[in-house]
Amino acid sequence: IKKIGLYTSGGDSPGMNAAIRAVVRTAIYYGIEVMGIRRGYEGMTKGDFVPMNRKSVSNIIQRGGTILKTARCDNFRTPEGRQQAYDHLKKNNIDALVGIGGDGTFTGAKVFGAEYDMPIIGLPGTIDNDLMGTDFTIGYDTAINTVVEAVDKIRDTAESHDRLFIVEVMGRDSGLIALRTGIAAGAEAILIPEHKGGMEGLFNRLEHGRKDKTSRIVIVAEGEEAGGAFEVGRLVQERFPNYDTRISILGHIQRGGAPSCMDRVLASRVGAAAVEALRDGHRNEMIGIIHNEIAYTPFEHAIKHHVEINPNLLKLVEILSM
Ligand code: ATP
Repeated sequence: IKKIGLYTSGGDSPGMNAAIRAVVRTAIYYGIEVMGIRRGYEGMTKGDFVPMNRKSVSNIIQRGGTILKTARCDNFRTPEGRQQAYDHLKKNNIDALVGIGGDGTFTGAKVFGAEYDMPIIGLPGTIDNDLMGTDFTIGYDTAINTVVEAVDKIRDTAESHDRLFIVEVMGRDSGLIALRTGIAAGAEAILIPEHKGGMEGLFNRLEHGRKDKTSRIVIVAEGEEAGGAFEVGRLVQERFPNYDTRISILGHIQRGGAPSCMDRVLASRVGAAAVEALRDGHRNEMIGIIHNEIAYTPFEHAIKHHVEINPNLLKLVEILSM
């Protein structure tokens, strides 16, 4: 391997910059060149490349977002788009790729890697933590800390006014953010896509739960069954008109901000391991950390959506909010 093409793709997550830095510096350490590809597959199909050196990744480990920018690209879903991408890579003598992103990014990488002789290594960059092959994804720790900080603030005002707050957090298909933050913020209930019939459970708690609580917080993942915080709020108000109910959607603040120490270390470790993996002949795999060890998972396994919700954690929310 002489020259690596490096890109971030799909939704951004805090810690992507730390991963970029680790890939660039490790590659230079081993005498490999790095070409940054801007805006993910979009830039790959257009040849939007920028050479990277030690200096280009100075002072970015602590910054959220991604200096390489990110995008979604429909053209890369077509054989013509991928051919254009390959031509640009070849023209620039790029002989391997490192892509940082989520399941869409790895699906694209898997398709591309099957069509062309181009070794690709993926790094798990998403706040959702919904990939197989790693205990945690880059950005998840920062995002859940951002959520907990926000919910603590909401709790102050909820408590002062004796209100019930429905707080919506990110997670269209995954309730992992809601579950962790629900435990950490002492939520009275959580609603997540993986758990059906959550609304009935919530009604039950409100009906039969402790009456002397002055504030209540329900954490709702975007993709839960009833349709998100507004719908949950409407149903609660209909059934319990006496509660002073408010809705808060945390939105994109969950994706930004300085990465936590955990995310910086995770990103640095997998970033360095990506370069070493390419040197060792790995291809079409995602690199994660399982039980504190570097782990290699083929793209097709990493993107399988069966990250399971631990039922004990769901039960914990119930027990601890009594
Ligand atoms: P996140 O889940 O954090 O938003 P992601 O990596 O899953 O991140 P997507 O928008 O789903 O984000 O995917 C990123 C890009 O990967 C797409 O815009 C597209 O260019 C490419 N891609 C996804 N699926 C395919 C596919 N089946 N074939 C080719 N390219 C694909």
